[in-house]
Amino acid sequence: METKTVLGVEFLDEGMPEAVAFVAGLVDKPNKTQIVTPNPEIFLIMWAMADFKELVLQAELKLADGFGIEWASWFEQTAAKWPMWKRKLLVYPSVVWCAIKRPKAMVKRVTGTGLMEQLLVWNPDISYFLLGAAPGVAEQVVKKFPYANIVGTYAGNPAAQFEDDIVEQINNSDAKVLFVAYGAPNQEFWIKRNLHKFKHVRVAVGVGGAFDYLAGEVARAPLFWQKVGLEWFYRLFKQPSRLKRILRAVVVFPWRVLAVTTTLDLP
Ligand code: UDP
Repeated sequence: METKTVLGVEFLDEGMPEAVAFVAGLVDKPNKTQIVTPNPEIFLIMWAMADFKELVLQAELKLADGFGIEWASWFEQTAAKWPMWKRKLLVYPSVVWCAIKRPKAMVKRVTGTGLMEQLLVWNPDISYFLLGAAPGVAEQVVKKFPYANIVGTYAGNPAAQFEDDIVEQINNSDAKVLFVAYGAPNQEFWIKRNLHKFKHVRVAVGVGGAFDYLAGEVARAPLFWQKVGLEWFYRLFKQPSRLKRILRAVVVFPWRVLAVTTTLDLP
């Protein structure tokens, strides 16, 4: 499997079909795999929280979730040859340029939502458990994917006192793949704390708002918007409450990338 290191994190650098086949293959391995899907927001949390950064770096498989990481991989390689004034001047224009030109040097994007959807559709022989999201949302996903082998759903609660009960439910379900939708970084910490307790689960991945998208609760941006990296812009109109999060991803993240790639103070 090809990998590419972006901002100090070694990402899988394969297209969606290869990534899905790779993850499906992990189910038969004796070892358990925690998958993380860093996006700009997750990098900002990593840079502010040492234990979360360590968790991400230690996760067995990292997938580049979102255009921001694609751009960062290009910027990190290309801007290294530029003088400082040029890096500062071009940091934001280069985001737009990458969205339009889609240079080859970018790491390949595999979103958590995309991975989950493709696994459910193409691997109906694998058993899945859906943990998290608001009550009823995971059940909606079950209805949308009638052929997927979803053996359990539970909204639950990410707080530590409910963990043992949830782990027992998951163990009783026989699920091999666990999707956790508690939002970052809670879902990643939850998986890290509990992975060793699972009897059957081999792959666990935090997928953020994926259940909401797959259930049809929140519409994903049309493909064109996703392709040119403007899904965030579409989201802004659909969910204006996300403004602060979107500004962090679109404005703060590129500037932080400029800073970390300049000082080489990589995560
Ligand atoms: N969530 C939950 N329990 C919590 C906090 C969050 O089930 O205590 C769910 C929430 O309903 C949503 C998901 O976690 O489905 C987080 O989605 P968000 O849009 O924040 O994730 P993103 O895709 O932006 O990372």
